[in-house]
Amino acid sequence: MKRALFPGSFDPLTLGHYDIIKRGITLFDEIIVAIGVNASKKYMFSVEERKVFIEKAFANEPKVKVVTYEGLTVDFCKEIDVEFILRGLRNPADFEFEKAIAHTNRDLAPIETVFLLTSAQTSYIASSIVRDVIRNNGDYTKLVPNSVRVK
Ligand code: ADP
Repeated sequence: MKRALFPGSFDPLTLGHYDIIKRGITLFDEIIVAIGVNASKKYMFSVEERKVFIEKAFANEPKVKVVTYEGLTVDFCKEIDVEFILRGLRNPADFEFEKAIAHTNRDLAPIETVFLLTSAQTSYIASSIVRDVIRNNGDYTKLVPNSVRVK
């Protein structure tokens, strides 16, 4: 069974993440969306809220699991016996950043990183932009799945 870990902050889940997960499902038997928890980082949404947003968005998709983890992504992959990391690419800046991480990860463990290019319609969407729109009371609903709503 081919399983891939899709790690990220998902603060919050966006239509960009959603698109990568949907397309990942066609390549892998299981996609484990892994919310990285970094104690020193400030988030807009709690880890529980972020988890529920993703679980609700994929409630009808048994191939998608949502977990949280701390520490190195490759260590977590080994722990749960996953051979692939899935990441999305939006632009050259993502590529440079992701390339360095993927090379480092491969030095640390025999885990392959698979990249999917963002869809044209979601290429501009980033969680940081969604947070800015929310903070400034803008209409963020076009940028996120229906499961992501601010209380
Ligand atoms: P991180 O904090 O690790 O960057 P994110 O939650 O921002 O986590 O993103 C997780 C993954 O989703 C990364 O691989 C990122 O490149 C990808 N991603 C984010 N937004 C988009 C988008 N609009 N299109 C495609 N991939 C995206």
